[in-house]
Amino acid sequence: MNSYTSDFMAMIRAKNPAEPEFHQAAQEVVESVSLVLDKHPEYRKFKIMERIAEPERVIMFRVPWLDDGGTIHVNRGFRIEMNSAIGPYKGGLRFHSSVNLGILKFLAFEQVFKNSLTTLPMGGGKGGSDFDPKGKSDDEVMKFCQSFMMELYRHIGPNTDVPAGDIGVGGREIGYLFGTYKKIRDEFTGVLTGKGLNWGGSLIRPEATGYGAVYFAAEMLGTRGETLEGKTCLVSGSGNVAQYTVEKVLDLGGKCVTLSDSSGYIYDPDGIDREKLAYVMDLKNMRRGRIREYADKYKSATYTPLDPSADHNPLWNHKADCAFPSATQNEISGKDAKNLVDNGVYVVSEGANMPTVPDGVDIFLEANVLYGPGKAANAGGVAVSGLEMSQNSMRYSWSREEVDKKLHGIMKSIHKACVEASTAYGCAGNYVNGANIAGFLKVADAMIDQGIFG
Ligand code: NAP
Repeated sequence: MNSYTSDFMAMIRAKNPAEPEFHQAAQEVVESVSLVLDKHPEYRKFKIMERIAEPERVIMFRVPWLDDGGTIHVNRGFRIEMNSAIGPYKGGLRFHSSVNLGILKFLAFEQVFKNSLTTLPMGGGKGGSDFDPKGKSDDEVMKFCQSFMMELYRHIGPNTDVPAGDIGVGGREIGYLFGTYKKIRDEFTGVLTGKGLNWGGSLIRPEATGYGAVYFAAEMLGTRGETLEGKTCLVSGSGNVAQYTVEKVLDLGGKCVTLSDSSGYIYDPDGIDREKLAYVMDLKNMRRGRIREYADKYKSATYTPLDPSADHNPLWNHKADCAFPSATQNEISGKDAKNLVDNGVYVVSEGANMPTVPDGVDIFLEANVLYGPGKAANAGGVAVSGLEMSQNSMRYSWSREEVDKKLHGIMKSIHKACVEASTAYGCAGNYVNGANIAGFLKVADAMIDQGIFG
């Protein structure tokens, strides 16, 4: 670590105590970007990194709601408006019991670079609550969403800040949030993305993050003259991103053998085919059940409950070619990364945000793994959110084929931008540096153009 990087990180830790995920995200970016700062001192003079790491605005609020039994609950709501240099704040809402300020700041920070990579005009933001929709009735989820929007509506708008879904926020929650916004503001606008298809949503938005992560893996494989045909893939999670990752891997001739949730994982060496995937989608999206039930239904599969005391996750310890972590941050430890490499995995495309700890990233890079970091590999979701905003502005809808083609084109251009930036700064093939540098440059130049309020 050079002296600029260590001084910067000391400042970040001092100003943002008890936010380890934010420190982790900031450190990765500043280490990559220091290659740029050495060549272009103007970015230091304009204090771009210092400004990018400070949210433009942080909103924290009380979210009171009544459960079905009439008991009052109080959750905490957040919106981090991180950077608006290249467009309105854009990024998802996460509802999960683990949500806190530091986690949302790391996600908002990552979102700035990710959105820049998409080529679309979107700034970065993130929000959510420590409310967990798991185990709540539809009525309870609706009452929570209504209360959450009763405050959030003041801060968002189609040209200001456009939230979307993330963990725990899918089509159901976006519907309740949108209905409340419309009621309060008395206007029908593209203020949220991930909307239902018959009220302003875009085709391919639910599929976009998973499809995009697989397109990114295919691009990385293409640099070695290979495709996904016949490849065995490990996937974690069983929510939105995981489901559409499995679907696109099937489309491209590969086989996924694992899925998980926060209770455990299934391993199905025969592969998760289309019929089994339809079962998972019904289980998770309609019946809101647990992945354990997959192994009751399909005898080819085994279920392993999560062991919180273990030093590794056995999901990452199976023979395979590719891995698509699609659950949550820091789900691949250093030991997991070593197990993946020892089991022959040489492609890692991150559907989740920051799923690999820094030691794990080092192991992938040393082993010459084709490693696509989340801010590049999972940018397909926000890219199609950007396309949803365009369609809303035009009051027009593109066909499924048109949106998929645009998504595919964006993933290819993100891959190209990463390769070109890593090559230009002397670290060809390092997608971490490539993504951070390419994402940084566009935002940094816009901030300089706009003066110190940029
Ligand atoms: P989701 O539909 O809510 O699914 C999340 C999945 O991950 C569930 O299977 C969940 O299991 C599991 N999970 C969540 N927290 C976990 C934890 N602490 N430990 C173990 N498993 C956990 O969410 P999603 O939209 O697929 O998001 C998954 C990841 O992709 C997140 O990192 C998100 O930030 C990232 N991402 C999403 C999008 C998008 O468009 N949705 C875009 C870019 C990136 P349980 O049901 O048991 O909690």
